[in-house]
Amino acid sequence: MIPIYLDNAATTKMNKNAIDAMLPYLDTVYGNPSSLHSAGQIANEALTNARERMAVLLGCEAREIIFTSGGSEADNQAIISAARLGAKKGKKHIVSTAIEHHAVLHTLKKLEKEGFEVTLLDVHENGLITPEQVADAIRTDTCLVTVMYANNEIGTIQPISKIGAICRERGVLFHTDAVQAVGHIKINVNEQNIDMLSLSAHKFHGPKGIGVLYAKKGILLSTLIEGGAQERGKRAGTENIPAIMGMAAALESACADMDQNTAKLTALRDRLIAGLSEIPHAILNGDASQRLPGNVNFCFEGIEGESLLLLLDDKGICASSGSACTSGSLDPSHVLLAIGRVHDIAHGSLRLSLSEENTVEEIDYTIDAVKEVVEYLRGISPIWRDLVNGKKEFIIK
Ligand SMILES: *Cc1c(COP(=O)(O)O)cnc(C)c1O
Repeated sequence: MIPIYLDNAATTKMNKNAIDAMLPYLDTVYGNPSSLHSAGQIANEALTNARERMAVLLGCEAREIIFTSGGSEADNQAIISAARLGAKKGKKHIVSTAIEHHAVLHTLKKLEKEGFEVTLLDVHENGLITPEQVADAIRTDTCLVTVMYANNEIGTIQPISKIGAICRERGVLFHTDAVQAVGHIKINVNEQNIDMLSLSAHKFHGPKGIGVLYAKKGILLSTLIEGGAQERGKRAGTENIPAIMGMAAALESACADMDQNTAKLTALRDRLIAGLSEIPHAILNGDASQRLPGNVNFCFEGIEGESLLLLLDDKGICASSGSACTSGSLDPSHVLLAIGRVHDIAHGSLRLSLSEENTVEEIDYTIDAVKEVVEYLRGISPIWRDLVNGKKEFIIK
């Protein structure tokens, strides 16, 4: 059985154009861009070219593109840099949200131990924050606002342009973790008043282990890795040219096909949501409209998410209970808790994240499979028996 891959928020299959763009740099074009000889200069031209193409796609200048090892590094670098800059001016307050990726939340925790104060904004039940919440949270000592563009678990898309405008007006640096958004939603960092942005190639059909931190010119970054002069001298190490070339090609493809992909994905997503909504005592997590085109996330009452995943895997469906980082641990997702799901309900979650390669047949098969597995698991669950017998009250009506 060919697996039905519905875990594109965890990672994606590489695009053919991206693979083709990488091949020469894994084979014949292997020079080090820092070398002065011709082999090095050919590699350096490729690097410059990829940087310029990434800049065009994001709406910034080539010198504002910093290559990183992925989204986590870009998040760390952005937040640490803004914190160090702020501390120099006596500003040690940071505003963020309760539903950020752990690459952001754990970096903020580290800064708290160093004496920074962090305000994590509560999201509404639909997973959104309002620009007013950000405006109210900014203080005279705020050095950074960091709000994710789109959530990796529940797919909610935050009002980034409005938040950017508020930060610009108040003179506070604004960073967004756009790892789930880049390649899936139209973004222009200048028009949206974004000072720093993180992206990761493997979330838009590019290679793993490569990403970008966009940092507006004039923002002094902290030195992440000591050594050579690569990446503004802040991140030493010979550049990963094959991955960088693959990333640029993947983002070009994603942006060129975006309208078409969005239309296809939205139709598949809504078909899947409609099908799963027929399951009794189930609830869609995240906002119905301000939502990534490929994201579906449900909680089913009386179900244990891990069992659901394993049984779906037996049926050839690759799904997730939340983020790849939290699955495997017994703690329920911090995102689901933040939108008000109680522990028992949050444990019964299922995330299905689609790609444009999925088909209507796969979606219909998945709807049937989830219905069947949920019914089976409820049938053997003592908690479900109590709910049905009225000994316990349903939380999801
Ligand atoms: C995947 C992801 C990251 C981490 O990116 P890596 O390239 O895997 O380090 C960060 N933030 C969000 C929202 C993500 O989805």
